[in-house]
Amino acid sequence: MVGLAIHGGAGGDGPWKGPTDLDPQRIACMRNVLSTIGDLLENGIDATEAVTLAVEMLEDEPLFNAGIGSVLSAEGGVTMDASIMQGEDGAAGSVVNVTKIRHPIRAAEKILQNGWPVMMNSAAADENAIASGIEEVSQEWLITDLRKAQWQKWKNAKSKPGSTDEDDSAVLDHDAEMGTVGAVALDKFGNLAAATSTGGMTGKPPGRIGDTPIIGAGTWADKNVAVSCTGVGEAFIRTCAAHEVSVQMRNGCDINTACDSILKLVGPIGGRGGVIAIDKDGNISMPFQTTLMYRGYWHDGKIELGIGPDLI
Ligand code: ASP
Repeated sequence: MVGLAIHGGAGGDGPWKGPTDLDPQRIACMRNVLSTIGDLLENGIDATEAVTLAVEMLEDEPLFNAGIGSVLSAEGGVTMDASIMQGEDGAAGSVVNVTKIRHPIRAAEKILQNGWPVMMNSAAADENAIASGIEEVSQEWLITDLRKAQWQKWKNAKSKPGSTDEDDSAVLDHDAEMGTVGAVALDKFGNLAAATSTGGMTGKPPGRIGDTPIIGAGTWADKNVAVSCTGVGEAFIRTCAAHEVSVQMRNGCDINTACDSILKLVGPIGGRGGVIAIDKDGNISMPFQTTLMYRGYWHDGKIELGIGPDLI
């Protein structure tokens, strides 16, 4: 049995108002990822390569917040984080605050394959990725007009008298959803893997690191379950959220109960978001406690996709 689940970020407060004009493009991308990588999994590709390829395709979609189309930091630039973990042996790779590569997740996967170190940051991570054959791109290439407009809106809101750091209405409107991407897979050989990639959060301060590149916070895989999280990263870091799913399952919870329980943990400390997970038997869970989460899965040739509360 093989399986694949993906997400394109969670966000929003309040009731679901239906899809925006941009959503068909996001849905088409996710459908393409699921059918392409689902077929490859059936044909024997391993879980680690499957989640890497799936996330590369999502990074290439400018409407998601990873790779091209990443959100802009306070300084108006793109800095990206990504991580990947292989369940079979716990091998992992992670890059933090990279600025000039097309596929941060491939950079993380190269680190995983190399075996040591596990995490690399900033310029050294960029250089290591480029030296290992990953395409170098410019900031101009990574920054889209949509993200520039969202950043301007954020900047204007911040400069209003009385605005606070908590005043995130400019960041979390529907088109500015966080949009982090992730994938979890179970391959033909029974192995699991998880991968997550992001530009972080609009207006993030210099040097800020979210949960996405932190193994155990935004990404986790072992022999039982593979997990990718999305949401306000600080809360997912403080609860080791992705790893906590595994702990709950080791303690006897099924995958749905385990995923729901981590959302209950992050919620009270500002961790609005969602999670996708797949277990060794191919069960998939995709809960969120925001208005929406771009998400979908491929299972035995069947594809399901959703944005708001219901699958479409
Ligand atoms: N978790 C990401 C971060 O905090 C953002 C997201 O998932 O939307 O950087």
